Amino acid sequence: MTEVHILSFVFFIFGICFGSFLNVCIVRWPHERSVVKPRSSCVACKTPIAWYDNIPLVSYVLLGGKCRHCQAKFSFLYFFIELLTGITFVLFYLYYGLDIVLVPYLFMVCCFIIATFVDFGHRIIPDEVSLGGLAFGVGFSLLIPQLHTMDDATLAMGRIFMRILIGAIIVIHALDYAWHKFRESRGMDVGEEEEGFDLWTAVVVFSALGFDLLIDYGRGFLEASALSAWLPNLLSLDAAVIGFMVGGGSIYAMGLLGDFLFRKESMGGGDVKLLAMAGAFLGWKASILAFFIAPFFGAVFGVVEKIRTKDTTIAYGPFLVAGCLIALFWQNQIIEYIMGLYGFR
Ligand SMILES: [Zn+2]
Repeated sequence: MTEVHILSFVFFIFGICFGSFLNVCIVRWPHERSVVKPRSSCVACKTPIAWYDNIPLVSYVLLGGKCRHCQAKFSFLYFFIELLTGITFVLFYLYYGLDIVLVPYLFMVCCFIIATFVDFGHRIIPDEVSLGGLAFGVGFSLLIPQLHTMDDATLAMGRIFMRILIGAIIVIHALDYAWHKFRESRGMDVGEEEEGFDLWTAVVVFSALGFDLLIDYGRGFLEASALSAWLPNLLSLDAAVIGFMVGGGSIYAMGLLGDFLFRKESMGGGDVKLLAMAGAFLGWKASILAFFIAPFFGAVFGVVEKIRTKDTTIAYGPFLVAGCLIALFWQNQIIEYIMGLYGFR
């Protein structure tokens, strides 16, 4: 047994325990119930589940997936999610080693797992995961600058992209508003107005833009001031801010375009918040890649589901998650490949 074997085992145990908690979140958050209390109980006979019947993986196998008291069957998903989380933790450890970035990445992956299974089951992504995860992603970025090792040129490129994207969204909303006011003043049929930003979204978006401006133009001042020791942390925070604005902004913009083209709601707000959350961890390049990769998975699955259930609306969150993970591990290869196609290299 080497150190790697032992640590892999430790990460596996950690993973299945976290997986057990993720199960609770997956079951309760869609119904807006607390994940802290009450204790888990059998759905059928309501008997609280004793700690010795709640051991990840082991209890499921020992009890044959059934309640000890009434023999009601427990979903295989519980077992599967514990195992999946355990394996994922080990894979991340083997890929990154004992690196501080494991903390934010494993946190992000836990959010991904909850989002995936809740979205498949209920077609929603709980705000606890997306907005809660976003807040943690921003916090992690400030505390762990290794999370965003981005050179200045890449950061500057993302910044320009963010300003164009958000600028376009604001202009579209302003034009839409003016158009409706104009038609209203003429007593014409106004039709459906695009919903504008709510107050909190506006506060977040403008604080993000403001913070980025501060870093962009105040960098010289920061370097000369007492805050210079914190510069890597502030730049990492800036990378997270640009990441979540570009991630959320790109899906939001696509939704606006879809509303305009198809005259119906095409993208859920949950997807916007999910990719915004991922962007805070992964940065702007990976969020854009995920944005472009997700439809491929979604299209394949959508066709299969349409044949199977005749249902055309699909949960999109899981495909965004798949896109994010592919972008996390292979973004450089993918970007080099695409650049190669166009003869840059
Ligand atoms: Zn029972």
